[in-house]
Amino acid sequence: MSCLFCQIIEGSIPSTAVYQDEQCYAFADIHPQAPVHILIVPRVHIASLAQTGHADAAMLGHLMVVAAEIARDKELDAGYRVVANTGSDGGQTVGHLHLHLLGGRGLAWPPG
Ligand code: 5GP
Ligand code: ZN
Repeated sequence: MSCLFCQIIEGSIPSTAVYQDEQCYAFADIHPQAPVHILIVPRVHIASLAQTGHADAAMLGHLMVVAAEIARDKELDAGYRVVANTGSDGGQTVGHLHLHLLGGRGLAWPPG
């Protein structure tokens, strides 16, 4: 299997788990951009948000709710950001759909 995040999900590449269930896996980003930087990925391989449709709505909603649950668990009461970088202009570097959960510091807007 060539996909990095599929290998992380199956455990052949180690990661620091934060949360997991039957639909998704969440783990610490290896190059954190904030005090809390967690990636939330669906277990099913989907390249990016651009490949999703209405059939994926429940899974996508689940990822968002999991992000909110992790943020509560991490006590990000001052706020946080959830991002899905998509495609080359979106800054996506790993071709498996993922949400970034970033928090623990003030985040600038707009992004670069
Ligand atoms: P993207 O740029 O595609 O939105 O996000 C990919 C993220 O995956 C980056 O923030 C990067 O630091 C993270 N990443 C890349 N390789 C690994 C890895 O092997 N392990 C972990 N935990 N994160 C990784
Ligand atoms: Zn994958």
